Amino acid sequence: MPVRRRILVTSALYYANGPLHLGHILEAIQTDVWVRFQKLRGHECHYVCADDTHGTPIMLKAQSEGIAPKALILRVHAEHTRDLAEMMIGMDNFGSTHSPENQAICERMYRALREAGFIDRRTISQAYDATAQMFLPDRYVKGTCPICGTADQYGDSCENCGATYSPADLKNPLSVVTGTPPVWRESEHYFFRLSAFEPRLAAWVKSGTVQHSVARKLEEWFSQGLKDWDISRDAPYFGFEIPDAPGKYFYVWFDAPIGYLGSFLQLCARSGLKFDDFLKPDSPAEMHHFIGKDILYFHTLFWPAVLEGAGMRRPTSVHAHGFLTINGQKMSKSRGTFITARRYLDLFKPEYLRYYFAAKLGPGIDDIDMNLDEFAARLNSDIVGKLVNIASRCAGFVTKSAGGRLGESLPDPGLYAAFAAAGESIAAAYESRDTAAAIRDIMALADRANQYIDLCKPWALAKQPGSAAEVQGICTQGLNCFRALMIYLQPVLPDMAAQAQRFFQEAAWTWQSAATPLLGTTIRPYQPLATRLDPKAVAKLVEPEAAEAPPAAAAPAKAAPPSAAPAAAAAPAELISIDDFLRIELRVAKVIEADLVAGADKLLKLRLDVGELGERQVFAGIRSAYDPNSLVGRLIVVVANLAPRKMRFGTSEGMMLAAGPGGNDIFVLSPDSGATPGMRVK
Ligand SMILES: [Zn+2]
Repeated sequence: MPVRRRILVTSALYYANGPLHLGHILEAIQTDVWVRFQKLRGHECHYVCADDTHGTPIMLKAQSEGIAPKALILRVHAEHTRDLAEMMIGMDNFGSTHSPENQAICERMYRALREAGFIDRRTISQAYDATAQMFLPDRYVKGTCPICGTADQYGDSCENCGATYSPADLKNPLSVVTGTPPVWRESEHYFFRLSAFEPRLAAWVKSGTVQHSVARKLEEWFSQGLKDWDISRDAPYFGFEIPDAPGKYFYVWFDAPIGYLGSFLQLCARSGLKFDDFLKPDSPAEMHHFIGKDILYFHTLFWPAVLEGAGMRRPTSVHAHGFLTINGQKMSKSRGTFITARRYLDLFKPEYLRYYFAAKLGPGIDDIDMNLDEFAARLNSDIVGKLVNIASRCAGFVTKSAGGRLGESLPDPGLYAAFAAAGESIAAAYESRDTAAAIRDIMALADRANQYIDLCKPWALAKQPGSAAEVQGICTQGLNCFRALMIYLQPVLPDMAAQAQRFFQEAAWTWQSAATPLLGTTIRPYQPLATRLDPKAVAKLVEPEAAEAPPAAAAPAKAAPPSAAPAAAAAPAELISIDDFLRIELRVAKVIEADLVAGADKLLKLRLDVGELGERQVFAGIRSAYDPNSLVGRLIVVVANLAPRKMRFGTSEGMMLAAGPGGNDIFVLSPDSGATPGMRVK
């Protein structure tokens, strides 16, 4: 058995000024898969992360909303927490950089750096907005590029010619905050002496802590010489005040990576883990950071230097990944390709995205493209067509003809041995974050299992008398192949793996569980584990998001929007046959409960009794016309075979019928008295 490792893992911080998008989720999934893999291998692995909550953008956004920065970051934290949980990102602690723990450790590290002589004070000249009474970060000054003359460029670089410069070099500079010309003021700032760490950092970078492509990029920075780093900002600023320096605050990028440790401190307080076991300079524990390639400078230069200067250990490794593109293009709000985590979750299961991203992520820093056609095709082919197909073709025979009992031996032990032997190379791929290679190997095994079943044809054999034992054997073989694959896929598909464990009636798996087949035990009746994705539904991911989700699965059922009221007398609808009509299953239902829906001012949530069809939950857009209490006990008519629709507030399992243009004029349809719930309407 390998040595049990102690591992601390982070994914990069989330800036607390907006929603999580699929780029954030790509990284969270990459990290989470690696963490779940380590846990499955039996290692002690702790995954912490935090919202990054400080700096001028947060301060100004809160101001523009008329709320305190703390209120803003609390609201965003609640949204981030919910989205991450629904994506099945199993963080052990999700904190905030604006926590007492983080403040304490920032101060501790800053004091250590100061005592060791790594903090200098220097006077700098900086743009100042006299109207807003604040110093302006470089990106808050805009003007004409001094090199090429392009107007409306940021104070640090020109998007047209690529030149970098300081805001003082811009022609006709203006403050982004008030639109007035800035003045230049002197102020004393605190600098971290990064240059003092240059030789040690260069050696650290070359010792295998970063990918080769990243090391090459860092060479460029080393060849230019490392500059000392301004870690202070003047009030007004949202952040932590620097000890013994009134009116001076830590720059957001100083306390952001320390936020990993602040979050870990919270976990330590809750779990009894010892902080120093992981952070002392000679700690045998590992510390891994997963980041996007845009923040390499902070994580591979500043962060290890700050840790070392403050008397702590450096990271074991920093894993960078490329950017996410959608259909080959950069995510863009104007093109509708800025897909939030929320939008995805409102439409699809998290595991589809987890599988797709895992199948695309390799160990390099190339960009990852999410092509929506490929997304649906890949899920339908791999998960539904290959993986789940193995179980669904075998389980029924075991249940029907063998009383749910798996055979006592395998008819093809060599085939299973190949599945068990593949475990180590698949593990090596996960370990090196080459999940694309792991998935390729797993799907190649799935193909072999399906070929075996195709060859043995248990469905044909089952019709021959006296073949029960043979059919049981073939299906036991198939189900054991499926089980090994689910063990290998558990880091990516934790929920499907849990369902498979229940199906096999097994306790929690370890990676080693795949080494031996499951024989002579009883399985539960098989429940479908995944369903096909409709490519048309997937295309909806990139449609511009409506301000308020339209209650499409809700009454009033009308073709024309209220603004087109005169159109009621316009062209008749297309003619349909009686068969077309009979495809719509209309049923009488009784309203058992009716409630308001927090956050949706058009909707009511109804619980319906539909007789033999059981109870249904339906969201109906009738709140403007009906008090919920007035509906309880009423009989109505519902479309009972409408595909369930997942909405932000829950799933709508049908549509109630109503007439009228909307607003106060909505009229719910009811049957005459004597009808009972569940009656078919024809
Ligand atoms: Zn320029």
